Amino acid sequence: MASLKGAINKFQKIRYQILEANLFDKIDTSLINDIGKKRVFIYFDYEREFSGHKTQVTDEKIIDIVDVLAANQLTSTWFTVGRVIETYPESIDLILSQGNELSSHTYSHIDLRKTRKGCISRDFDEFDRTTPPNYNVRGFHPPRDNWSLQGIKCCMNRKFDYDVVKSRNTNNGCAYRIQIKGLGCLIRLISVIDDWDVYKSAGSQVSIFCEYVKILDSVYGGGVIGMGFHPWIITSEPQIFESFCALIEHLGKRQDVIVNSCGQLADALKNNLR
Ligand SMILES: [Zn+2]
Repeated sequence: MASLKGAINKFQKIRYQILEANLFDKIDTSLINDIGKKRVFIYFDYEREFSGHKTQVTDEKIIDIVDVLAANQLTSTWFTVGRVIETYPESIDLILSQGNELSSHTYSHIDLRKTRKGCISRDFDEFDRTTPPNYNVRGFHPPRDNWSLQGIKCCMNRKFDYDVVKSRNTNNGCAYRIQIKGLGCLIRLISVIDDWDVYKSAGSQVSIFCEYVKILDSVYGGGVIGMGFHPWIITSEPQIFESFCALIEHLGKRQDVIVNSCGQLADALKNNLR
């Protein structure tokens, strides 16, 4: 049975790779590249206990993260689970108060590829209920990077203008767009790394700083890439948090890097489309 399940998963993965290749057009990111600098978006999957992991994230730890970003004058995008917004509203105020952007990571951390269409729509409706208009939600990151067409349609119905998907198969630095008749256009920003990969492979010896800088160095000038984090991972051990702080400081200082939020990048890419 295990091998049948593995084969089905593999088939599904290939199916989505083919769909992605056929439905999405590559955007020439040099259109927003004034001076050949790399554009980086920093994002968080903010899910607390609702992703099924045992976490010990507190509002104090969220303050620590937001403070490090602010101290280096960087803003970021927080893909937040609707149930977190309901349960920990004070932490959302903290995040927004420093100019960070709030986006959707579904209402209850559902896997879109294992959820029926009607249930996906209902999950988006539930998320809407948790977010007043002043939160200005306009983007989406599917849990486990498992995007689906129904998810994209739900995003477009809400006039979201971007989603983020992690992919190591694309050339580092590309962005994409999908157009659906009657629904408009959605920009796809690509994440090239998140801390889960590093954490899984290196355990407590993780060096977020080294792994992320290695990837940053490999991106061509003018490329657009995302670097993701989970608050529960980066605050799980003091040395992991130190490594994260060193990276944020490094990003703030690098002359060849501009850090934007996902929304800023979506605007820049959309406004330059021909
Ligand atoms: Zn998640």
